[in-house]
Amino acid sequence: MNIRKVLIANRGEIALRVHRACQEMGIQTVAVHSTADNTAMHVRLADESVCIGPPPARESYLNMAAILSAAAITGADAIHPGYGFLSENASFAEMVEAHGLAFIGPTPDHIRMMGDKIAAKDAMRRLGVPLVPGSPGALETLEEAKAIADEIKYPVLIKAAAGGGGRGMKVARSADELEEAWRVARTEAKAAFGDDSVYMEKYLDRPRHIELQVLADAHGNVVHFGERDCSLQRRHQKLVEEAGSPVLTAADRDALGANVTRALKELGYRNAGTLEFLWQDGQFAFIEMNTRLQVEHPVTEMVCGVDLVKEQIRVAAGQPLGYRQEDIRFSGHAIECRITAEDPETFAPSPGRVDMYHAPGGLGVRVDSALYSGYVVPPHYDSLVAKLVVHGATRAEAIARLRRSLAEMVVSGIRTTLPLHQHIVADPEFQAGDYTIHWLERFVSRMREN
Ligand code: ADP
Repeated sequence: MNIRKVLIANRGEIALRVHRACQEMGIQTVAVHSTADNTAMHVRLADESVCIGPPPARESYLNMAAILSAAAITGADAIHPGYGFLSENASFAEMVEAHGLAFIGPTPDHIRMMGDKIAAKDAMRRLGVPLVPGSPGALETLEEAKAIADEIKYPVLIKAAAGGGGRGMKVARSADELEEAWRVARTEAKAAFGDDSVYMEKYLDRPRHIELQVLADAHGNVVHFGERDCSLQRRHQKLVEEAGSPVLTAADRDALGANVTRALKELGYRNAGTLEFLWQDGQFAFIEMNTRLQVEHPVTEMVCGVDLVKEQIRVAAGQPLGYRQEDIRFSGHAIECRITAEDPETFAPSPGRVDMYHAPGGLGVRVDSALYSGYVVPPHYDSLVAKLVVHGATRAEAIARLRRSLAEMVVSGIRTTLPLHQHIVADPEFQAGDYTIHWLERFVSRMREN
């Protein structure tokens, strides 16, 4: 099919990101927005815009009927969901297709399968992808949980089958703690996802989070674009991401990539996706697959020289990839800082008016942001306001460039996590690449004490 007009079912920096790819491809864009976003940058830049409801996301950015109506009245022929909101909602993808529009993403069946983390692990087990040891499926009773914990040994992690955003996840270090973890994880899962199914994994004490970016067309071609190291997390949420990982060799990447692309080919996967792994003692263990564009995709684009959103659109239009794995080359190193409108010490949200915004520039610097001077950050949505991404010939050059860019960047009027990022990049352990998923929590508490 020919895609001439894309409705972007999102807001903020990612809506702009998709708009930019469309513009360069000669594709028209339709922005949708809530009444809180009347003056937002994505609305200003899009070719057309439609107001789809009041500020609360469930009445606007999650309002499927309103979004589909906006697509119908503007004559859009495809919908890009971005990340978050409806991006991993299989019913939405189904509705989009039922209305004769292209959904720029995977098939509804694959979204559904990977959205259920137990089903996802099951599928990966069958496809021969290594997993974190744990329960074979959902845990029905506390007794069953206790039996499996005894088998795989404490500490263990109770996780929500419908999980996301680090919610519904509780560690138990002993049998005594298990009862509490079991109860709290289920309650949190029920509240956040309306589903209290949980499963168990061995809690790894010093892993890195390493994920692999893949892209597949509708003709059975699957390639990967290498790994991202997203170990710098707070409350299981990523703050800084790198491509490639400071600890992987090219041979490690090739081996993981070959296994994953083979598996996805067998699955018949389509469009972009990310397989997330924990890496410890040289071993990879799958934890989940995200069936959408990730926040941190720019670091991959910087080292591969590829526009992943354009690739997503081409694949959704039915075009074959047009290149093979051997054609994908990795050059240099990239790092992304997620800058949020939060207090850099307490992480309390800090919405409000941005008096002045100044983005850094220069060779190898990219800022994905919908900010402008005078913009009012609304309190209703995710606190991410800018992604500062740098590329360098080496990791050391990327770090020097990041320090320089962070020092140039100005967001005044609201509090942001810019100072926290400045501290992180100045730290010798970060500079040595010597960190696990637990490093940042300790770093933040040390910083607070001083
Ligand atoms: P979510 O979908 O809620 O983000 P994930 O399964 O992707 O949940 O896990 C988020 C983060 O939680 C991981 O990146 C990792 O830091 C931590 N985590 C998940 N599973 C484990 C585990 N088995 N052991 C240790 N840490 C884990």
